Amino acid sequence: MNFDLSSTQLTLQQNFQTFGDMLGQRIASSEVVGGSVTQLFDTGIWQTCCDAGLLSILLPVDRRSSRTPDYTLNLPDEPLSILDAVIAMEGFGQGCHSNALAFALNTHLWTVQHTIQSYGNEKQKGDLLKRLSNGELIGCHAMTEPDIGSDPASMKTTATRAANGFVLNGCKCFISLAPVSDIIVVFASTNPDKAKWGISCFIVNRHSQGITVSEPTEKMGLEAVPMGTITFDDCHVPESALLGSEGAGIGIANASLEYERCCLLASQIGRMQTQLASSIHYARNRIQSGQSIGRFQSISNRIADMKVRLETARLLLYKVASLKSRGEPAMMESAMLKLLVSEHFLQSSMDAMRIHGGLGYIRDGGVEHDVRDSLGGVLYAGTSDIQRNVIAGMLGL
Ligand SMILES: Cc1cc2nc3c(=O)[nH]c(=O)nc-3n(C[C@H](O)[C@H](O)[C@H](O)COP(=O)(O)OP(=O)(O)OC[C@H]3O[C@@H](n4cnc5c(N)ncnc54)[C@H](O)[C@@H]3O)c2cc1C
Repeated sequence: MNFDLSSTQLTLQQNFQTFGDMLGQRIASSEVVGGSVTQLFDTGIWQTCCDAGLLSILLPVDRRSSRTPDYTLNLPDEPLSILDAVIAMEGFGQGCHSNALAFALNTHLWTVQHTIQSYGNEKQKGDLLKRLSNGELIGCHAMTEPDIGSDPASMKTTATRAANGFVLNGCKCFISLAPVSDIIVVFASTNPDKAKWGISCFIVNRHSQGITVSEPTEKMGLEAVPMGTITFDDCHVPESALLGSEGAGIGIANASLEYERCCLLASQIGRMQTQLASSIHYARNRIQSGQSIGRFQSISNRIADMKVRLETARLLLYKVASLKSRGEPAMMESAMLKLLVSEHFLQSSMDAMRIHGGLGYIRDGGVEHDVRDSLGGVLYAGTSDIQRNVIAGMLGL
């Protein structure tokens, strides 16, 4: 068993890290306006990512954008494997301090693009994948409703058959990127009598009649990823909006959740690496009572724990991504990974904040936002409780 990355993988990861670092510097200078931090989704930075090829990593060269970029990630002609994709996105997270940007890109990539790529017919893929990767379109993934979150099988949004298509009614909430989206991958029941087997999945134009998207919801972290509520009020969609077959929605949701839980948090592992390096640097250089604080065991123990969390998270990421690269099922493994990485990132962010003392608490310190951002990770794509339920269920409990 060889745990080393190949030279190609190391180069790929380094390219993404350098790119992330460059963007991070642009964000640092654009986010502070008039002394306060602006928390806006930056379309210019999104476009730079698309132009560089970041949202094309899962596509073959003939489906990618033909624009000439200012910066290129030097992707191979073939799509990256799932393992190489997470290695690349880990590098991005290591370079880019904005968890929000990494989360927005990963959400778009894994819950929208990858879902359409896996289940779309040739017409849907031909129309959408290039435009989703070149920045023309932004997508969001709408599952959660005001009355159902952890139990999507009970969803209330309906899609009723009508002339030449379906009519959607219902409400989806906490949807990342909804306020800036152009298309919505939405789940709705086409046959409520069949419960979860009656759920279907649709790709809907967000500008269709009968759709209202709220203003961005204020939240405690990941501020630059706008989140909103989507209301469907007699929204007519054509038959061609159906993704996969009628009633296949729960299968699509579960399969896409498996990829989401495997891949979405790869950039957080990169961020944990940077967080560890900056905590070590601070612990070596901050002097209290005549010695560096790193010499106090209370500080060095925290740093040792951060290192252990990082290494275990990364090992599990590579294991699960290897399974998905080979097309193998990994329901339990991806739930374990999601649980482990999200909780570890939260815990390490708390440790980094304590190590930095008061500096860790103030906005300018560049440390506190990880605490706020990491909290979202223990909720989205299934809370930690739900991951434990999945693991226990797979163990026959
Ligand atoms: C930053 C962020 C981004 C998000 N982005 C999206 C998005 O893009 N698209 C989308 O559809 N949704 C999104 N969500 C919503 C997210 O998926 C839900 O919030 C989550 O699934 C939990 O659902 P809920 O909020 O309704 O909580 P509930 O399901 O009501 O759960 C409340 C509490 O009860 C616990 N609980 C519930 N059921 C069980 C059970 N069976 N066993 C044990 N404990 C249980 C939960 O763990 C939780 O602690 C996002 C959420 C956040 C925070």
